Amino acid sequence: MSDGQLAAYAADDQRSRGRRHPEPPPQYRSEFQRDRDRIIHSNAFRRLAYKTQVFVNHEGDLYRTRVTHSIEVAQIARTIARALALNETLTEAISLAHDLGHTPFGHAGQDALNECMREYGGFEHNLQSLRTVDELEERYARFNGLNLTFECREGILKHCSLAKARELGDVGERFLQRRQPGLEAQLANLADEIAYNNHDVDDGIRAGLISLEQLAQVPLVHSHLQEVQRLYADLSARRRVHETVRRMINALVADVIQSSTERLRAAQPADIDAVRRHERALVGMSEAMHAQHLQLKRFLHEHLYRHQRVLRMTIKARRVVTELFQAFMEDIKLMPEEYYEAAWRAEERDGASGRARCVSDYVAGMTDRYAILEHARLFDPAERT
Ligand code: MG
Repeated sequence: MSDGQLAAYAADDQRSRGRRHPEPPPQYRSEFQRDRDRIIHSNAFRRLAYKTQVFVNHEGDLYRTRVTHSIEVAQIARTIARALALNETLTEAISLAHDLGHTPFGHAGQDALNECMREYGGFEHNLQSLRTVDELEERYARFNGLNLTFECREGILKHCSLAKARELGDVGERFLQRRQPGLEAQLANLADEIAYNNHDVDDGIRAGLISLEQLAQVPLVHSHLQEVQRLYADLSARRRVHETVRRMINALVADVIQSSTERLRAAQPADIDAVRRHERALVGMSEAMHAQHLQLKRFLHEHLYRHQRVLRMTIKARRVVTELFQAFMEDIKLMPEEYYEAAWRAEERDGASGRARCVSDYVAGMTDRYAILEHARLFDPAERT
């Protein structure tokens, strides 16, 4: 099965660099459909439903979670992929997998775990996403992980230090050679930014932490908000937000399609390897739109991610993650048996850093509510253990 009409520079599963463990081709699906389906059926994907994007899972039912975020990323990326005749299925697979390695409590959790892991090789959620699909999922008899195609794994690994790149083998090579990933990977990365900047506007307003009036100082918001007000003077606040945000997403998507089309027309890459060798990314926004998008990002950093209410939750989250890590690191027997046994074996093999890696796998895999519960069970004598 093929993935439909593709441009010469799109990823083509018939010319894939393959899987780490060779498998017979799927009968009714393309190789990239199989990748996407394995991601959807994974444990890590289901856990994303209970992991924070900005707001902790129990703060409200309407906020984005990691799973709804990933679906929005896939939606945006697929629209652009189809317009550019890229491989829509691979784009979707990468989008759905890109956050699989995220810790509980979003970036607060990742930063805390990274600090805990400082002496043991650090922790980075993007690398952990790759580790999840390569090693941690336990589903198949013959191999660890999901055994995804090279192209999908290449897309999941967005960034990486040179030291890590050397350890990672095939997917690390491009960081050592300073090469680009395929266009589907470039696109999923860009769609991630478009998705979160826009849905964080929506979530931030819903939470009452930022207002549309305040956001009007951001040029990207200003022009679309003005248009909505001109067209619909008496619109309710809720609809005004949505009519503005949908126009912003649309403008960004249209800009990416137009500017990527121009770049591809100028570069004329003959195939995916020519894309990889090109000196810069061929999927991207125009300079003017990129500047506007950055202004929105800066606004959100200043007014939403550093809002006092978000910071209070951030501090609690850091404390929970740090104390969990320390407790398990001190006594690995506090972890469930399978993690304890894995940590014991890893310590025999790699010393303290092996032990720490297993502890961080356990903590990183937790959902927000599981981490809160596990913390209470460990530290609150009134809780059942
Ligand atoms: Mg993301």
